Amino acid sequence: MSQYVNEVLEGLKKKAPWESLFIQAATEILHSLDPVLEKEPKYKKHAILERLVEPERAVSFRVPWVDDKGIIRIHTGYRVQFNSAIGPYKGGIRFHPNVTLDTLKFLGFEQIFKNSLTGLPMGGGKGGSAFDPNGKSDGEIMRFCQAFMMELFRHIGPDTDVPAGDIGVGGREVGYMFGMYKKLANEFTGVLTGKGQYWGGSLVRPEATGFGVVYFAEEMLKTKGETMMGKKVAVSGFGNVAWGAVTKATQLGAKVVTISGPDGYIHDADGISGEKIAYMEEMLRIDRMSVAPYAQKFKTAQFHAGKRPWEQKVDVALPCAIQNELNLDEAKGLLANGCQAVVEGANMPSTLDAVEFFQANGDKILFSPGKASNAGGVATSGLEMSQNSMRLGWTAQEVDARLHQIMVNIHKSCVDAAARFGTPGNYVNGANIAGFLKVADSMIDQGLV
Ligand code: NAD
Repeated sequence: MSQYVNEVLEGLKKKAPWESLFIQAATEILHSLDPVLEKEPKYKKHAILERLVEPERAVSFRVPWVDDKGIIRIHTGYRVQFNSAIGPYKGGIRFHPNVTLDTLKFLGFEQIFKNSLTGLPMGGGKGGSAFDPNGKSDGEIMRFCQAFMMELFRHIGPDTDVPAGDIGVGGREVGYMFGMYKKLANEFTGVLTGKGQYWGGSLVRPEATGFGVVYFAEEMLKTKGETMMGKKVAVSGFGNVAWGAVTKATQLGAKVVTISGPDGYIHDADGISGEKIAYMEEMLRIDRMSVAPYAQKFKTAQFHAGKRPWEQKVDVALPCAIQNELNLDEAKGLLANGCQAVVEGANMPSTLDAVEFFQANGDKILFSPGKASNAGGVATSGLEMSQNSMRLGWTAQEVDARLHQIMVNIHKSCVDAAARFGTPGNYVNGANIAGFLKVADSMIDQGLV
């Protein structure tokens, strides 16, 4: 590791040692920039790393709301506006009980590089709250979303910061937040993405992240003369990203045999397709923290309590649930069982030592970091922003074709950057370097701001 990267990482650890997720994400990204920093001293001269790891702005605010029993509840809301060198801040909002400023800094930091990779003009940001939507009534969700937006609205705008959904924030929550923004700002703009079809949303946005993951997996497999056809696939999670990934993998002829939740995982040897995919959406509505009901409904499946799907023998693994859900032992197990590709759908689902293991074994197993393979979601959000600006809507086929092409382009950018800087086939280095170069050069062009 270069002296420069080391100094910046040590600085982060000294300043906020409790920000373990942010430090994990920064360590992975900065390490892979070593070859660039060595070749191009201008980045150190302009203190690009020190500036990159410091959010341009992070706001924290009170979110007061009243539950169905009439009791006053108080949460903390956050928005981290990390980097706007190449476009307005862009990144989702997460409502999940374990959200902290650390979580949102890690996600916002990743988002800078991911958004740059899409080729669209979007900076990086992320927001959220430790609000748990599970078990809340529709009225409670609406009141919380409205209270959240009552403060957030003064920090965002269609040319400033454009939030979207993430864990715990889907179409319904985006709708309640959009409604309140529209009322407060007295304008109808594309200030949020993931909107409903009749009020500015883009077709294919709901399925875009999962579709993009599988398009990316297909490109990776092609480098080995393979395709998704006939592959046995393990997916984790059963939320938005997992649902899109299961749908597209099945369409391309693969057999998806697992999905998972915080309670364990489902193994369905017959494959998860047709009405079983439709049931995933219903399960989210019943209890988004429990995958077990699937095995009660479909007798072909077994539920493995407290376990994760990576113990299954599969050709392709798609982690699509949450950060740090695939560790070193599981990475070793996947390789030993002949898995050919691990393609991340979630953000940072693999632990740092698992990522290092995959990189060290790149000749045997393909590995893609989420910032490359899950970028289809934010890319389609970018397409939603374009449609809103033009006040036009594209057909599903047109959006899907653009999404597909963007994933092909991201794959090529990663492969080219990895090869150019001496680590061919290393998608982690390729994604980080390709994402970094555009942002860093734009920061230099724009002076010290
Ligand atoms: P979601 O809320 O629709 O689904 C989340 C899934 O994770 C659910 O199946 C839930 O049961 C599971 N989960 C929650 N906590 C868990 C835990 N502690 N352990 C194991 N599983 C847990 O969210 P989503 O939008 O599908 O997001 C999933 C991942 O993909 C996240 O990392 C998110 O940041 C990332 N991502 C989402 C999008 C998007 O467009 N939605 C885009 C890019 C990346």
